[in-house]
Amino acid sequence: MSAYEFTDHVYDVVVVGAGGAGLRATLGMAEQGLRTACISKVFPTRSHTVAAQGGIAASLGNMGPDSWQWHLYDTVKGSDWLGDTDAMEYLAREAPKAVYELEHYGVPFSRTEEGKIYQRPFGGHTTEFGEGPPVQRTCAAADRTGHAILHTLYGQSLKQQAEFYIEYFATDLIMSEDGVCQGVIAWKLDDGTMHRFSAKTVVLATGGYGRAYFSATSAHTCTGDGGGMVARQGLPLQDMEFVQFHPTGIYGAGCLITEGARGEGGYLTNSEGERFMERYAPTYKDLASRDVVSRCMTMEIREGRGVGKDSDHIHLHLDHLPAEALAERLPGISESARIFAGVDVTKEPIPVLPTVHYNMGGIPTNYWGEVLNPTADNPDATVPGLMAVGEAGCASVHGANRLGSNSLIDLVVFGRAAAIKAGKVVDPNAANPDMNPASVEKAMERFDTLRNASGATPTAELRLDMQKAMQADAAVFRTDKTLAEGVEKMTAIAGRLSDVKVTDRSMIWNSDLMETLELANLMPNALATVVAAEARKESRGAHAHEDYPDRNDAEWRVHSLAVVDNANVTLNTRPVHLDPLSTQEEGGIDLAKIAPKKRVY
Ligand SMILES: Cc1cc2nc3c(=O)[nH]c(=O)nc-3n(C[C@H](O)[C@H](O)[C@H](O)COP(=O)(O)OP(=O)(O)OC[C@H]3O[C@@H](n4cnc5c(N)ncnc54)[C@H](O)[C@@H]3O)c2cc1C
Repeated sequence: MSAYEFTDHVYDVVVVGAGGAGLRATLGMAEQGLRTACISKVFPTRSHTVAAQGGIAASLGNMGPDSWQWHLYDTVKGSDWLGDTDAMEYLAREAPKAVYELEHYGVPFSRTEEGKIYQRPFGGHTTEFGEGPPVQRTCAAADRTGHAILHTLYGQSLKQQAEFYIEYFATDLIMSEDGVCQGVIAWKLDDGTMHRFSAKTVVLATGGYGRAYFSATSAHTCTGDGGGMVARQGLPLQDMEFVQFHPTGIYGAGCLITEGARGEGGYLTNSEGERFMERYAPTYKDLASRDVVSRCMTMEIREGRGVGKDSDHIHLHLDHLPAEALAERLPGISESARIFAGVDVTKEPIPVLPTVHYNMGGIPTNYWGEVLNPTADNPDATVPGLMAVGEAGCASVHGANRLGSNSLIDLVVFGRAAAIKAGKVVDPNAANPDMNPASVEKAMERFDTLRNASGATPTAELRLDMQKAMQADAAVFRTDKTLAEGVEKMTAIAGRLSDVKVTDRSMIWNSDLMETLELANLMPNALATVVAAEARKESRGAHAHEDYPDRNDAEWRVHSLAVVDNANVTLNTRPVHLDPLSTQEEGGIDLAKIAPKKRVY
């Protein structure tokens, strides 16, 4: 056995992550009487979900007509026909229920005059199956929706006796010889002790991996730890080539200005003062889908119409809106613009630039959150005892591009679904299986090797090399040449992980070691992203390939799967689920409505 001693814990369910997805899963599990632990490397209400501003999509129809079928259509089109139809139907249908539950749990939503939940327009959300005007579907608590949701779910989870392990860093999954997940190992950051959690089900809710890039809106904690843990078990990651660039990151700082700013009437201009989105997307203009707006901004800059002394960014105007409306509806972003761009939004435009924002890809799951490990005979085979929800997972409802406000709803709908499923499959009276000692040993050897790593490359240097390579070569626009360079650079960078240097050998508050563990998690995510992007010879959603400008459904309407073994990636595919959950006779969608067509806004 390794030299490390363990404190042991036994639960029915262990949730890794306390963002919106992890907390909604934790709450749902605990409500059903399952003994539930939630492990988080940061205090729960500091998870990245706290930063979500704009809101959460659900077809409540509080501000005009809406329907779940329209929401489904918009999600299918937003995904550029790569999402799984059953999962997308589940999302759109369950969304209103999930939002009313949040309301009853106590989320302080903004209100209409009549006291209903306030809803704002968001990009790509329409009426009449894309034929009608934009819809107000995005439920908001001012511009602090994620904050409101996270605090409410944390309080409710405590009320249900869920047990929290805060500032514990989960390092690896514990798996049986025959591939059943049995638990997880965690390092307690403030006292240096090691912990073994035995569980009948482990739920990974570790968030995205935005920090694989140099400029990202996501928190520094978004390091794809769940993806890293899964990759180390030889399990695949799905659709990693699809990385969302948000049109309006603050130039230089990367902090987000919510799409809600455009939802409330904001618009973009180039150096000629032109509202250029009218030219590219005549119907939905500044409220076209995010990938579309980001590409248009990039084209304006490339063609010399960027603003600023280097003509390298774009202006976002809110200065035409009434100051009272800004104070009421967008107080948080008014503050961000002042602090990070020195701009008074009531008087001047905000300098913005497309910035990495969201990972459509992740750990493949079905719409119950069960992790998939596709085999030759069964593309939907599951990994017993393992679930993934939230940005870490890929259900797949966002396909090649996520619509704004569809992530928060994904967190609560699938966090809830995972709990419903666990309620059915986890037997609280059964004994926990013995944890596989070989799996524990292997995980601790890796931990120990990194802790004592005495190579030549400091973690921060290797991380920067990775972030720069990803920013340059897996960008808004991609070509065969940039992607081939990206694969070469990233393969070399991933190879250098064995030459990393950790200077602090202690176990207590060792941020050097923690950042190295995070880098080791970012690496397979980043490598899978660029390798899968290089292989996909088409343009779809966020993957804009200049050598293959069109979507190619005949060959490429498939999910990509990437198995990462250190610096090697093996690619495979999985069919997209085309069948909905319910037939038209059962009240489901008319499939003709969501048949593939050209994606224009
Ligand atoms: C600035 C910003 C604004 C956004 N605004 C919106 C919006 O308005 N609407 C919308 O729909 N979407 C929005 N998004 C997207 C959405 O907020 C995220 O996709 C979502 O919050 C991710 O939630 P999550 O629960 O999956 O993960 P996170 O909230 O990122 O939480 C991850 C959790 O995992 C834990 N964790 C990670 N690794 C480990 C480990 N190794 N050990 C232990 N714990 C670990 C962390 O401590 C944390 O608790 C926004 C994103 C950003 C960055």
